[in-house]
Amino acid sequence: MNLYRLILPLITASFLAACSQDAQVDAQVADLSAATASDQRILAADQEPQNWLAHGRTYDEQRYSPLDQITDKNVKDLGLDWHYDFDTHRGLEATPIVIDGVMYVTGSWSRVYALNAVTGELLWEFNPEVPGEWAVNACCDVVNRGVAVWQGKVYVGTLDGRLIALDAKTGEKIWDVMTIDQKYPYSITGAPRIVKGKVIIGNGGAEFGVRGYVGAYDALTGEQVWRFYTVPGNPADGFETPALETAAKTWNGEWWKLGGGGTVWDSMAYDADLDLLYVGVGNGSPWNQELRSPGGGDNLYLSSILALRPDTGEYVWHYQTTPGEMWDYTATQHMILADLEIAGKARKVLMQAPKNGFFYVLDRETGELLSAENYVDVNWASHIDMETGRPVEDPRARYYDSPWLAFPNPLGAHNWHPMSYNPNSKIVYIPAQEVPFLYAPDKDFKAIRPGINLGIDMAAASMPDDKTARDQVMSMIKGHISAWDPVAQKELWRVQHPGPWNGGLLNTKGKVLFQGNAAGYFVAYNSENGDKLWSFPAQTGIVASPITFSVDGEQYVTILAGWGGVFPLLAGEAALKSGRVSNNSRILTFKLGGTDKLPDWKYVEPDLPEPPVGNGDDKQAANGNALFHRFCSSCHGDKAVSAGVLPDLRYTLALHDDTWFDITQDGILKDNGMVSFKDQLSTEQLEDIRQYVITRAQRLKASQGTKED
Ligand code: CA
Repeated sequence: MNLYRLILPLITASFLAACSQDAQVDAQVADLSAATASDQRILAADQEPQNWLAHGRTYDEQRYSPLDQITDKNVKDLGLDWHYDFDTHRGLEATPIVIDGVMYVTGSWSRVYALNAVTGELLWEFNPEVPGEWAVNACCDVVNRGVAVWQGKVYVGTLDGRLIALDAKTGEKIWDVMTIDQKYPYSITGAPRIVKGKVIIGNGGAEFGVRGYVGAYDALTGEQVWRFYTVPGNPADGFETPALETAAKTWNGEWWKLGGGGTVWDSMAYDADLDLLYVGVGNGSPWNQELRSPGGGDNLYLSSILALRPDTGEYVWHYQTTPGEMWDYTATQHMILADLEIAGKARKVLMQAPKNGFFYVLDRETGELLSAENYVDVNWASHIDMETGRPVEDPRARYYDSPWLAFPNPLGAHNWHPMSYNPNSKIVYIPAQEVPFLYAPDKDFKAIRPGINLGIDMAAASMPDDKTARDQVMSMIKGHISAWDPVAQKELWRVQHPGPWNGGLLNTKGKVLFQGNAAGYFVAYNSENGDKLWSFPAQTGIVASPITFSVDGEQYVTILAGWGGVFPLLAGEAALKSGRVSNNSRILTFKLGGTDKLPDWKYVEPDLPEPPVGNGDDKQAANGNALFHRFCSSCHGDKAVSAGVLPDLRYTLALHDDTWFDITQDGILKDNGMVSFKDQLSTEQLEDIRQYVITRAQRLKASQGTKED
């Protein structure tokens, strides 16, 4: 009899019942002391419903909680129990980890916080001091999606490419390793996973020109154990793995010079029985395949789900969702492992709803495609051919000759916001979205650094100025929760939202489905029919995913509230579809009968200063428009409209004088993330951009009072 068995009687009866049925338990030596989680403990996470031990709660990433104190019947009595204010005002995307009453969470800029999960008291904070200027290498805000916790250590990947282990009790640094070559614009925003004593982490950067990979590091020492590149490098240098030799046959030209892409920036799952680690692989770099791999090709392993051996990184199988990807249709979206009966046969499946709009059910042992159906309206492909496992594309969607108005858009029909799965009802809840995008090739493409390298004309994809056209586009921009039957591959019901970029999902045994949304509410729904049961005004847009845990028999629900991420940075007016929200960055924790209150707050429209006169040179402003959407809009918004994360340039006093050049050439705001562009843009070009932004400010000023802009 081991320690685990001796402690068991101290735990709840249901826990005991669950464990005693499980032969695996005998082999486990789980360390149940505070702030630790051994591999075995994560493996058995389902038997500790009071904790949230791993990113998706369990290795299968189902994000379902067996807690049932909060139910569809009493959730109306849910109240705020405590809140914690961050001193940052950027996006919050993290899933907290809760172990034995301690919450470990990341905020913006890869900062780590440990709090008393019952009181919200800060126990320690760790600031990795990410250099502000590294933000220019991050496509999608200075966000972080959370830590991993294992054997008294807390692991975080930082925006500037480090992997750091901290002492869970004190927040002191134990080790710190660089996982990237900082000559290249990589960034880490994803949560590490711990598998078999190794920390698994990937990175992002496929919008900037990098070569993707995922790596494993010894959790005790930080030493690199293996690295798996997802796309081949220059064949002349030899191939790191046989899988890359195979992959290279599916590429053309000199793709390695542009990086190729294929970053592993978010999703992973692990099956201990099969000993397979699954990772989701991102888009091509640049997006435009004609530039990346002239003449086409599948470009393996872009937009693929890869199964690897966690001990060695050895390739086992892949399934490519979007061959020859050229729409930013990543397969980095959340993957859920489950057991389903399909066509009368019990199957171990992997489920994913990637950006491209199709819901895939794979046999996770072999990678065999079992079924795929579109979960939103899509127009780039009519269906997935079950013979070949490939999409049947509309050839016009490859926008080589003429622009293509695509559904979904690069934001995806589903992005990183986690889904949630109910293992009893076998329903998958998808935070889905419907947004169009006009893909047009950038005819003057030249790789830039720092900077976004898409090979797409972003100005062509701008919101139209004409009101009728704009209203039409805005009416097409939507978001919803889809309750999806993965066996029948059909939607059972949906909850419609005004706009996209709503938060991740959690469903519980208490029949409650939780989600925060872009309109600034945290909402509880009946998980069987989508009826709205309760909501809480969070004073900010929510994009993160909720968790639930319990301490001393009391169930809590926690969500990070903080507007941000790529959509409000990039999308301009489209990102205001759900209404104008601010970004008061907070942790919100609820329980039945909670009585905490947020400070009074009301959004106040800032005064728009009188814009400068400008020089009225239309040609210059037109050139500035093209340059703005090549260099600036990915952070400062389509048409210089800010949706509440970064300052709105139309309001900046820097338009009035040489401060504009102090910022754009001398880099006086680099510590905030606004670096100098003097190596990429001439003084004349920067002035063109200034003239363009002045026209946008003038347009806004003229419209004020008419509610037109
Ligand atoms: Ca991307």
